[in-house]
Amino acid sequence: MDEIQTFQKMIEGSTNIVVFTGAGISTESGIPDFRSPGGLWEKNRPIDFSEFMSSPEARKEAWRRKFAMEEVLGNAIPNSGHLAIAKLYEQQKIGAVITQNIDGLHQASGIPEEDVIELHGNTTYAKCLDCHERMSLDAVKVKFIPDEILPHCEKCGGIVKTATISFGQAMPVAEMRRAEEEALNCDLMIAIGSSLVVYPAADIPVLARQNGANLVILNREPTPLDGIATLTLNREIGETLSAVT
Ligand code: NAD
Ligand code: ZN
Repeated sequence: MDEIQTFQKMIEGSTNIVVFTGAGISTESGIPDFRSPGGLWEKNRPIDFSEFMSSPEARKEAWRRKFAMEEVLGNAIPNSGHLAIAKLYEQQKIGAVITQNIDGLHQASGIPEEDVIELHGNTTYAKCLDCHERMSLDAVKVKFIPDEILPHCEKCGGIVKTATISFGQAMPVAEMRRAEEEALNCDLMIAIGSSLVVYPAADIPVLARQNGANLVILNREPTPLDGIATLTLNREIGETLSAVT
């Protein structure tokens, strides 16, 4: 049996699959990941949360990058990898998708919002960091693009940021709790397109494995969790998932 057949058998033999995705699943939709050659980190060092909070210049840089990326993100559509996962969801093989991505493409592929657990938030809208009031990107854009005026909350005057979780920022409590529950309840976790080096997100596949679930890692290159995986597939995501669904 080759590794694709082994993967397929594991999917068929599982009753509660949970998928854990990273930036790699969206590269085939034209969104660069962080760590691949040509990825975002080669161009821009990430702005961590304390820097964002303490420096107006860092906030301006964060918004400049956000709007520069908007064309790519705004026009991206789900690729064959997202669609294969949506198909397994529709067949009730998958109960939930836990994602580190902020692009909303799992929802766009047809998985209902309540079953997409976003560990690192969402970049398609903004939020006040004090009172959590939502603000549309358009509302930020009308002032920022012409004059680089930084957004402030209309309700409380707080600092406004995209609704994403930056390095150094606290993880969303409800989402982490739900992800842990899903990890403990699944019998197969498939980690797809993640370098599995960003914590605490990478604790989720570890938790599933420690609790007795099978763990499949599908990623072009090796990850630090390969040693605990039941099966590691160093392959392209779209064609691999299409082959087993
Ligand atoms: P990462 O960039 O660290 O790792 C992505 C992995 O996917 C790499 O190991 C790469 O080899 C692999 N990969 C890329 N394209 C692939 C393909 N077609 N087939 C197989 N493997 C492929 O991403 P990460 O682990 O998600 O961590 C980065 C953080 O950056 C995340 O927390 C996420 O929030 C954020 N991020 C999100 C997006 C997005 O929403 N699309 C994009 C960039 C970064
Ligand atoms: Zn506010």
